[in-house]
Amino acid sequence: KFAIFNGEIIERSEAKVDVEDRGYQFGDGVYEVIRVYNGKMFTLKEHLDRFVRSSDSIGITLPYTSEHLTEMLGELIIKNKLHVGIIYMQITRGIAPRNHAFPTGNVVPNLVAYTKELTRPLESLKTGVKTILTEDIRWLRCDIKSLNLLGNILAKQKASEAGCFEAIQHRGNEVTEGSSSNIYIVKNGVLITHESNHFILKGISKDVILQACSQNGIPHEERTFSLEELEQADEVFLSSTTTEVMPIVEMDGNQVSGGAIGPITKKLQELFNQEIEKQCGK
Ligand code: PLP
Repeated sequence: KFAIFNGEIIERSEAKVDVEDRGYQFGDGVYEVIRVYNGKMFTLKEHLDRFVRSSDSIGITLPYTSEHLTEMLGELIIKNKLHVGIIYMQITRGIAPRNHAFPTGNVVPNLVAYTKELTRPLESLKTGVKTILTEDIRWLRCDIKSLNLLGNILAKQKASEAGCFEAIQHRGNEVTEGSSSNIYIVKNGVLITHESNHFILKGISKDVILQACSQNGIPHEERTFSLEELEQADEVFLSSTTTEVMPIVEMDGNQVSGGAIGPITKKLQELFNQEIEKQCGK
């Protein structure tokens, strides 16, 4: 398999990172995960825009234009014969003698991308997943898709040890997001999800879902909601690039909507599928 390594496509096994790469030492970088269906990239422009935004917000200038990146990623998919899967792409500030402050001089950011085959989680999309609740202990710039994921990792590990798929995080009484997903509730036919501010990552799947709501007359609100609202919701689901519109059927051992998939969740799964077909074909 091949990888993009500093502007070239090379054998993945040849892509080696220096021990003083700032991504390796400080998590000083940002990343994206892009879905590939049918050999085509889904919501590519949105992912590239967010990649630029994340980089900008930590003072890393991307060494390539979005057009150039699009070309390279397209070539990588072809070389790796990727049909259904993901592209992982990250950029770090580069290699420099270890020092917290940004390096001065000509330090070049390090961009890496590789692909992974990953089928759609069709079974879970039908049956739903179990979750736990956990306090959100992360920093206050969760809008940046940073390589620093310790808070997210610890939350996911807690879920995993409880035999669950995801951890729903909350800051005190306010629900924020999953460890690697956005969270939604439905109450009396209205979809509610946290507004996109610095407490959560502005999911690309979230954008697709909210746009589908707007276009199909599904009432929706972007606002914070409480743990009580979460517990009393008619439907709960999560979304991400890899998991799409994923129903939640259990939270901390308590059943959600009688363990069934709610009608709005189902409708949004359909609309999400339509968007995939529109962009990537069947
Ligand atoms: N929130 C967090 C913390 C994430 O890591 C992710 C993605 O993995 C998401 C939300 C969902 O974002 P997207 O829909 O762009 O994959």
